[in-house]
Amino acid sequence: MRLRVVVVGIPGVGKTTVVQASAARMRGGRLVTFGSVMLEEALKLKWIKHRDELRKMRVEKQKRLQKIAAERISKMKDAALFVDTHLFIRTHEGFWPGLPFEVVRALKPSHLVLIEAGSDEIVARRSRDKTRYRDTMTKHELESELSLARSFLTVASSLTGAPILILRNDEGKVDKTVNKLIAVLKEARA
Ligand code: ATP
Ligand code: AMP
Ligand code: MG
Repeated sequence: MRLRVVVVGIPGVGKTTVVQASAARMRGGRLVTFGSVMLEEALKLKWIKHRDELRKMRVEKQKRLQKIAAERISKMKDAALFVDTHLFIRTHEGFWPGLPFEVVRALKPSHLVLIEAGSDEIVARRSRDKTRYRDTMTKHELESELSLARSFLTVASSLTGAPILILRNDEGKVDKTVNKLIAVLKEARA
């Protein structure tokens, strides 16, 4: 079975960290970060310079990049493709879906994986990570994003028929999170 694992979760929860390690552990594993594909297109168009400027652009422009990224990723035929992406984006125009129907249909997920962590841990991870310009948020706002993520996730699952796996990425326990994901995927492929 060809695996197309779409990994989502709110910013700073640890998606990229977990997915990098997971893709390396699967035969035929490849990681694609949806935001990196969007950024490549935005750089070609000279719209922005940094990935954290993407969500600050007008939604109409973000939609154009989102569509191109989904098309490019839909052509990747790896045995185990991990797509590192977002269920929704906090834009100036409101929460905007990362996986609207056309996008999730193009990605054809075999599995939907939501990464979660405690709100205090996420706040700490965001502030420790100096490579990114993450939004500062209160604990309350962050908790409402964690809950919003589950709502968006159920929609993506209903649209595609892909099962949902919710993984807790506890502090200092990346290996444990990765092991749980790999165990499920190896079983699915067995
Ligand atoms: P974004 O959506 O903004 O790309 P992300 O979900 O991909 O964020 P990462 O970049 O993987 O998040 O992780 C954010 C920070 O948290 C990084 O500095 C990473 O090293 C750290 N981190 C990830 N998982 C854990 C963990 N289980 N324990 C401690 N630190 C972690
Ligand atoms: P990331 O490195 O995963 O945070 O991706 C960088 C940026 O790309 C995000 O902050 C979003 O602005 C954008 N992005 C990622 N995935 C999607 C998606 N599915 N739809 C729209 N924008 C996305
Ligand atoms: Mg990331």
